[in-house]
Amino acid sequence: MSGLAGFLDAARRSLGAEQVLDAPALLDALSLPQARPAALLRPGSVEEIALAVKLANEHRVPLLPCGGWTAMHYGDPAPAGAVALSLQRLDRLVEHSPADMVATAQAGLAFGAFQDRLHEHGQWLPFEAPATATLGGLLATDRSGPRRLGYGTLRDQVLGLTVVNGDGVVRKCGGKVVKNVTGYDLAKLYIGSLGTLGVIVEATFKLRPRPETSSVQELEHDDFAAGFKLVRELVQRLPFVAAVAGFPGKPFVAQLGIDASPPDHARLLRELEAACPSGGARLRETGATHLDAEEFPPRPRRLRAVTLTDGRTVEPALAARLTWPAFAGDFPDQIAALDQLAASHGFGLMMGFFEFPSRASAELFGSLEGGEGAPAPDLDGMVKALRKAGLPVTVTWTAAEQTLSASAFGPPQPAWELMRGIKRALDPRAVLNPGRFVEGI
Ligand SMILES: Cc1cc2nc3c(=O)[nH]c(=O)nc-3n(C[C@H](O)[C@H](O)[C@H](O)COP(=O)(O)OP(=O)(O)OC[C@H]3O[C@@H](n4cnc5c(N)ncnc54)[C@H](O)[C@@H]3O)c2cc1C
Repeated sequence: MSGLAGFLDAARRSLGAEQVLDAPALLDALSLPQARPAALLRPGSVEEIALAVKLANEHRVPLLPCGGWTAMHYGDPAPAGAVALSLQRLDRLVEHSPADMVATAQAGLAFGAFQDRLHEHGQWLPFEAPATATLGGLLATDRSGPRRLGYGTLRDQVLGLTVVNGDGVVRKCGGKVVKNVTGYDLAKLYIGSLGTLGVIVEATFKLRPRPETSSVQELEHDDFAAGFKLVRELVQRLPFVAAVAGFPGKPFVAQLGIDASPPDHARLLRELEAACPSGGARLRETGATHLDAEEFPPRPRRLRAVTLTDGRTVEPALAARLTWPAFAGDFPDQIAALDQLAASHGFGLMMGFFEFPSRASAELFGSLEGGEGAPAPDLDGMVKALRKAGLPVTVTWTAAEQTLSASAFGPPQPAWELMRGIKRALDPRAVLNPGRFVEGI
């Protein structure tokens, strides 16, 4: 028996039949256009993960490592017949040394549970993410939220990793103390590689003391350009730990996060108030302790409702999310051009600047239901036009109705040849997430 059936048969014998799930209802619930598994494997140890990867090599079956399944929509589509490899049974906090401010955990541990354990000792990872996302998923996607402004990325908090590479070999990189790397810091290679080089099974993080006071201030400005300039100047001058800004919808609106001791918090607030000119800018305390990129910027107040020829009005639905390193230059003009481009491709646009002002993202809304007389939103055309205009957009999410003819990551870059070489060395038979990362890696 070869291929998928042979693989599942061997996996049942090695891991136990109860850890190889293929009930249609479960697989339907997991299915995404980008990651549609043929079965779900639940190994219970590093050795079992290594065994599963070796079996995948033997039977030439692609594997989709997965944790909390909150970001399986990132990346290009998975090949047919791929099997999801769940890390959720590897969910132990292996070691926490509060005095050294270092913790080691298995990759399937949920982010929320990990933070709760650290909070007991007044420590944390200064990072926003869904509580159900796993540490392995966070490292594989290496996304970051607004606190990146003050603390850097998760990559910056990692001391060491244990991975099972695509050849089934378990490798350790880095270590468990703050000063530990001699030679290449290979742990960094896996962070952000979207599970294409190795299955991350354990990670060691350096921790931070949890701040005594955290707050979020919202700043509105009647003039978009003036508001943008003011907030950019503020985040360069004062130690805010987080900032996001939104468009469209006037006035300009931004949120600024402060983590500090009570006296420093009060001082920063006074400086912030002093920097807001009377008239034009308004400041208010939100009552939140951290910025939530899903809730802010507020969703557009002026999305284009679409009227069909039969008179029905269709509410626009979220069609895609795009992100790119924020462009320099005249932001308001460029945003107006983007808005027009979106409209000409059948979309309403909502812009956000997470980690303000260094990363921009756009949400595109369109009438996905279709219907006679409804303009058909054209994501492929929009993405092509943006890339042609020199904006290096990554498509981080698409509704099932929208397809792309090119990679979500854009056209090839010179460094991708080197990346292909690394992939060949660490996953020679391309069993880990094949085709999902840049240029088919
Ligand atoms: C509502 C929402 C808000 C978010 N906000 C933030 C935010 O503010 N800041 C931020 O940083 N991120 C944010 N994220 C993204 C977040 O980082 C991801 O959701 C998370 O990293 C994915 O973890 P997961 O366990 O769910 O991974 P999954 O969705 O299971 O997997 C995601 C990817 O990682 C790979 N993968 C998973 N586990 C492993 C592993 N052990 N080894 C190798 N590859 C693996 C998978 O193959 C897949 O490609 C947000 C996501 C959501 C849904």
